[in-house]
Amino acid sequence: NGHRRKKARRGSLGATQENIDVQSGGKFSEIQEQRKLLPIAQGKDALLEEIRRNDVTILLGETGSGKTTQVPQYILEGGLADKGMIAVTQPRRVAATSLAARVSVERNTKLGHLVGYSVRFDEKNGSDTRIKYLTDGMIMRELMSDPLLSKYSVIIVDEAHERTLRTDLLISNLKSIQKTRNQPVDAKGKGPASHLNPLKIIVMSATLDAEKFSKFFAGAKVVYVKGRQHPVKIFHTAEGQNDYLEAAMRTFFQVHNDQGPGDVLIFLPGQEDIESLNKSIQLFANQLPQERMEVLTCPMYAAQAPGQNSKVFLAAPTNTRKCILATNIAETSLTIPGVKYVIDTGKCKEKQYLARDSGGGFDTLLTKDITKSSANQRAGRAGREGSGMCFRLYTEDAYNAMPPMAEPEIRRCSLTSSVLQLKCFGQDIQELEFMDGPDLDSVISALKTLYLLGALDKQKQLTSTGRDMASFPLEATYARVVLASREYGCTREILEIVSVLSASSKLFQDIAEQRDSAAEARRALRHPSGDHLTVLAAVRSYTALSSNPETATRSARRQWCDRHYLNERALLEARDIYTQLRQTCSRQGIDCNVSCGERDEPILKALAHGLVQNSALLQPDGASYKQTMGRSVVKIHPSSVLADKKVPAIIYNELVYTNQIYARGVSSISKSFFNTIPALNQRQA
Ligand code: ADP
Ligand code: MG
Repeated sequence: NGHRRKKARRGSLGATQENIDVQSGGKFSEIQEQRKLLPIAQGKDALLEEIRRNDVTILLGETGSGKTTQVPQYILEGGLADKGMIAVTQPRRVAATSLAARVSVERNTKLGHLVGYSVRFDEKNGSDTRIKYLTDGMIMRELMSDPLLSKYSVIIVDEAHERTLRTDLLISNLKSIQKTRNQPVDAKGKGPASHLNPLKIIVMSATLDAEKFSKFFAGAKVVYVKGRQHPVKIFHTAEGQNDYLEAAMRTFFQVHNDQGPGDVLIFLPGQEDIESLNKSIQLFANQLPQERMEVLTCPMYAAQAPGQNSKVFLAAPTNTRKCILATNIAETSLTIPGVKYVIDTGKCKEKQYLARDSGGGFDTLLTKDITKSSANQRAGRAGREGSGMCFRLYTEDAYNAMPPMAEPEIRRCSLTSSVLQLKCFGQDIQELEFMDGPDLDSVISALKTLYLLGALDKQKQLTSTGRDMASFPLEATYARVVLASREYGCTREILEIVSVLSASSKLFQDIAEQRDSAAEARRALRHPSGDHLTVLAAVRSYTALSSNPETATRSARRQWCDRHYLNERALLEARDIYTQLRQTCSRQGIDCNVSCGERDEPILKALAHGLVQNSALLQPDGASYKQTMGRSVVKIHPSSVLADKKVPAIIYNELVYTNQIYARGVSSISKSFFNTIPALNQRQA
């Protein structure tokens, strides 16, 4: 049976490119055959029956069994969502968009019609959309205009085991929404909720602590899909590895030389590591003797441009081994066919809240050791289609010492944006019912930040500024900056800067060894006030390329970026964000074309309103800066335009922790201006 499927997939390989749909990797009839062979297909009727009978269903099934792609279609076919749409939530935007694309191929429809998606800064939906994939963050935003989520009759909370802050908030809200919407109707067909369509909730995952979820939903029914997992042989290293990239590279070529056919999946913490290992593998693979199997690398991470990762789902050409370099997105969210070997670095990036005392007050992404649950999921990816092997780049002792599973985000992330959002629904985070409640300290810290930004008043009541801030799909600090730009007449410039700062990849490539040449290459873009106006100069120069016929071509623009050590992906993403922010502005009645011309002071002042907590003053030693609102002493990051300069006061985007604390994304600001920011004054008062 496993063999037959493999053959079918390989069968499409020999076909000409024309009849291979890039998104699907197969023809329509073939796809329908594949669907019927998925483990979940056998239980379809029983599953539908459970969903029909219960308000809440918890569905547990091995990764790749067909939960995310099939369950929404079953519900549609079974007529269980005739009064509203089906929502499927995902913690990651790439998962939401690529799964929507896949399911719309399975339905033989164009994406954005029957099947659509909605993620921050991007959506494809229509009035005919019935199944909508969206991030947990987006559905939380929808609560703002539709507090009962009444346009959905079924909401599927997928990947619930990840316990993202937004998933937890959503689950908490869904419970009370369902109570309202599903209130029994009295004998006359009347009742407080008689005009509302009832809501069904389905919670899905591969590794869920099902009991905990079931208990939260008053003993909801747990349904298991029987998976099809083949044995995976696991190898640990004898000693710990200092350099996991080097170890991954070595292991990959060992597999490539010694093992039979089958694709390799390497788990890495993030984009930088993926890009760097990708380069090394390609370089080395090119030097292999001609007669060896070829290597095709496929990077896969969240910040990739949409559609860029679709080649990962296509079978490798003959005599080629695919090497997929992925973040933990490939752990449970996306299943890649053909994988027989997994290389696990044991690392991931995790959002971590930094308390204000250590200079934070917001989240940073830290590279961390994974959990046992992740390690097992990663290994499992090698056994989907047949027996496989997993090479762990850590010792067995290290595995045994791993925590069983990650702590929910609500216990370790900044709550600022969530507290603000909940305030807009008239909710108080301390009064909600959670599976795991937040720490009092982080609630207080969020309230304090919101107060300093002017989003809450002294009585913790939402201000009109706060309400306006929440309407922007931005971090609270940047939303505040956009609002402040109104007062200073520089909305145009601020939107251009904030778009870049909100992109998922960084604009300025920063490799320590290339810092001098990068600084030299960017000379013309450098602005004396610091990094924010340098960002603006870079965006504007890039945009100007398009109006000159000589530089308007794609390759000319790319070359220009390479020459200046700029990440073009960040600029492209920023352009989309810019468009979205302009739309939000016009809805809010903010004129986004107001510009301050050549003056830089208004821009810096607007920035300072959002970055109040990220400000520091030069110390007497003339080299370090002391935070105005925290106790830390920081240095300017060597990648900054201001790296070797002394300025009386700075604002910065973030802190980076290495051997010491660095401020990154820094601009100089006049000291006297500090005193005009109300929040800073109040602090002194
Ligand atoms: P689960 O949610 O249970 O992990 P999915 O519904 O995501 O499973 O996946 C079911 C099957 O669909 C898998 O075999 C996977 O390989 C396939 N699949 C998912 N997305 C794509 C895609 N974009 N192209 C080809 N196959 C895909
Ligand atoms: Mg899934």
